[in-house]
Amino acid sequence: MHVLFRGPGEVQVGTDLGTRHVLTGLSEPEQKLLLALPRLSPAQVERARAQRGISPARWAKLTKDIREDPPAVGVRGTVVALDAHPLTERVREVLERMGIPTVGASAAVAGSRVALLTDTWVTPPTRVSELMAGDVPHLPIVVEAAATIIGPAVVPGATPCTTCIHLARTELDSAWPVLAAQLAHTPARRPNLIELETAAGLAAHALAGLLRGHMGRGWFVSAERCMPLAPPAAVPCGCGGIMQLSEDGRAPA
Ligand SMILES: [Zn+2]
Repeated sequence: MHVLFRGPGEVQVGTDLGTRHVLTGLSEPEQKLLLALPRLSPAQVERARAQRGISPARWAKLTKDIREDPPAVGVRGTVVALDAHPLTERVREVLERMGIPTVGASAAVAGSRVALLTDTWVTPPTRVSELMAGDVPHLPIVVEAAATIIGPAVVPGATPCTTCIHLARTELDSAWPVLAAQLAHTPARRPNLIELETAAGLAAHALAGLLRGHMGRGWFVSAERCMPLAPPAAVPCGCGGIMQLSEDGRAPA
């Protein structure tokens, strides 16, 4: 709770323009007690109110719209890392610092889990088939020639999966499967430090959101630019994901 001095006889409770609450016409004792409110226990407030001669009815009227800040919602669940790519490893470090446990692919996980995987150029369908079959939400990361693409996260049955997006790319360019097969054998590029750290932070944020049930958008990250992606073009592959069509698929928004 933030109680701020606005001027003689006036205080503001809360900082956001949309939710702040302004009290005016306060006596000096009322104003002082309201300003001290965040630091005092209920018993101390009650004692101070009586000492300052503020009636219970007046105090109840002044404080009727003041609410305690809601407790921070913790993230419950585990992130399963499917590989040891340097970016996956860095995301794990960030998540651990955020207090979100991570495990390798072979570990057994009790409770809710989401998965993280990093590939170069394309996400091979075999990498996500078990996740799709097991209804495990996952965040695919792809390191391309000049940028890293974070997500968007896949929630099986609810959002387009990586195969839906491959099909959309094939519809736009019939040679895409041939190109993708070659790219799978093209040497990997290691993201530079700006790209890696930015991508890791965004991916950790996306995974924390996914554990809370938020799907979020994808991100395009290079050393020069960082921007949210337009919803992916998708052709249903049979996974049940809802189509989210856009004109240019994965082009930056
Ligand atoms: Zn699909």
